[in-house]
Amino acid sequence: MSEKRDYYEVLGVSRDASPEEIKKSYRKLAVKFHPDKNPGDHTAEEKFKELGEAYEALSDPDKRAAYDRYGHAAFSGGMGGGGGRGGFGGFHDPMDIFSQIFGGGFEDFFGGGGGRRKGSGKQRGSDLRYDLEISLEEAATGVEKELEIERYVPCDTCEARGTKGSGGVKVCSTCGGRGVVARQAGIFIQQSTCPECRGAGETISDPCKSCHGEGRVQRESRIKLRIPAGVDTGTRLRSAGNGDAGVRGGTAGDLYVFLHVRDHDVFERDDADLFCEVPLPFSTAALGGELKVPTLNGQASIKIPAGTQGGTVFRLREKGMPALSAQRRGDLNVRVQVEVPTKLSHSQQEKLREFAESIGEHNSPMQEGFFQKAKRFFDI
Ligand SMILES: [Zn+2]
Ligand SMILES: [Zn+2]
Repeated sequence: MSEKRDYYEVLGVSRDASPEEIKKSYRKLAVKFHPDKNPGDHTAEEKFKELGEAYEALSDPDKRAAYDRYGHAAFSGGMGGGGGRGGFGGFHDPMDIFSQIFGGGFEDFFGGGGGRRKGSGKQRGSDLRYDLEISLEEAATGVEKELEIERYVPCDTCEARGTKGSGGVKVCSTCGGRGVVARQAGIFIQQSTCPECRGAGETISDPCKSCHGEGRVQRESRIKLRIPAGVDTGTRLRSAGNGDAGVRGGTAGDLYVFLHVRDHDVFERDDADLFCEVPLPFSTAALGGELKVPTLNGQASIKIPAGTQGGTVFRLREKGMPALSAQRRGDLNVRVQVEVPTKLSHSQQEKLREFAESIGEHNSPMQEGFFQKAKRFFDI
């Protein structure tokens, strides 16, 4: 990933901007950089995306708090499926499915989180992002994957309370329980996370040694994820509650899995339809016959009519990809490429010459049509 700009900078607001200011600025800039207004302008498109991302983070109080504390790291989880260190956990997977295409609708997608925060020192855990690559075959059938993710899980030692003893929790005296402190910086009032309680609003006199009072610890954990058939690059799956555990027993965040379907060496995909090119021996093209073609479920054969030209596309109905939301599968489109033999024996060459003489200049409909059109270029 390239270097990310600060979200406040992207939205052109100060760090202590009110939700209204953020919204206003977002709307103004979104109109300015909207792709419809800037057709073909790549920079505007990037800016529009960046804007959506920044707004998505800063418009949600929980996400904003997380961003204030951890910066961009708040939203980036384990990337890719690498690394096999010893695992932990074995969480169930209450799965919600989203088939939203990446790029649009962040606002309504994440929205409605609402501002639960403060009061008990509990804080919701961050949402995490995981980028997962799967094969086209896996996308076609659906697949179960086990993700290894470094994330916060509730601390066992203190049962997520942050303290072992009872009564060790006090309202933070530095921020009065607000979790943030304000300080004058020129004409602005700059608000930042309280350094004493790190935003929790409480301090603990007897913090748990395992989690230093946070009630959660970072662990490599394994999460089972069922990927439904028909997903595509850009599909996002949400695994509810499998983000970071909250601070001191706060609600866990969600895990968002962004899918990337690898390019296939035989098939190309366009939504639910698949395309492939298959070589066709020229004798079969002329005489007709059967042609074996690959499909996602193994081999199939198509009937080639006599006189088939190169480039002809044969459609195999419902042999494409399943669609996430539609009932009908896509089609497989097979484009034949007529292949001319390269090594001919003497007798084969003889036969071909004989054949060429016998066919003369007739019986080649494409040629005839072409010469009709291009007559003036030839001395006939
Ligand atoms: Zn603990
Ligand atoms: Zn504090």
